[in-house]
Amino acid sequence: MSLAARKIRLIMNLRRAGVTDTGVLAAIERIPREAFVLPHFHDQAYEDQALPIAQGQTISQPHIVAMMTEALQLKKTHKVLEIGTGSGYQAAVLSKLARRVYTVERFKSLLKEAESRFHQLRLHNITSKVGDGSKGWPEQAPFDRIIVTAAAEEIPQTLVDQLAVGGIMVLPVGPDRGDQVLIRLRKNEDGIECDHLADVRFVPLVGGALPEGEAKAAS
Ligand code: SAM
Repeated sequence: MSLAARKIRLIMNLRRAGVTDTGVLAAIERIPREAFVLPHFHDQAYEDQALPIAQGQTISQPHIVAMMTEALQLKKTHKVLEIGTGSGYQAAVLSKLARRVYTVERFKSLLKEAESRFHQLRLHNITSKVGDGSKGWPEQAPFDRIIVTAAAEEIPQTLVDQLAVGGIMVLPVGPDRGDQVLIRLRKNEDGIECDHLADVRFVPLVGGALPEGEAKAAS
């Protein structure tokens, strides 16, 4: 089966799985996931599964990407922060639905590869940097939407502080390799409200120092 046919099958399966936002489905259709996976996984790019990328990290399962993107209720005017650039795939999908995407990754090597994909695909509304995303991006705050693609043990207050009033944050919360839940958090004048979207399994959000050998390159 060709990649194009596999992509159509994936979109149909996402619809069947309950993804109804046509904007989200169109964005997924427009972004070539095969450009974000390692070459030997090209033929699996449109299977609904997470795949390994460099540095022991993963590109998320398309259904999770779709569900998280849909939960953000994006508008073309929105400024979005993503924590955990990884391959860059989620940021690329967001870039089709928002005004500007800011994305932070702690591994410089992953970020460099993601940036080259953004360039090749002419995704000019993505701004990226290396750093500890648990600190957010204070210089660019507040954000209309925040998406975290690695699991924190608790909701990071720093990110809540950088979310605009009226904003939405979608993030997995829970221990590494333990029970994690995908949460949608809404911030309003009176505080925050959370709802539970799904049980999930993400790599951990690792705060603190950058990985050995990457720290120097990141400066
Ligand atoms: N969004 C990615 C994509 O579309 O390919 C998938 C992200 S992967 C599941 C999680 C990413 O979060 C990894 O690349 C990991 O290095 C990154 N990460 C973990 N802790 C981080 C932190 N504190 N700051 C920034 N990135 C972090």
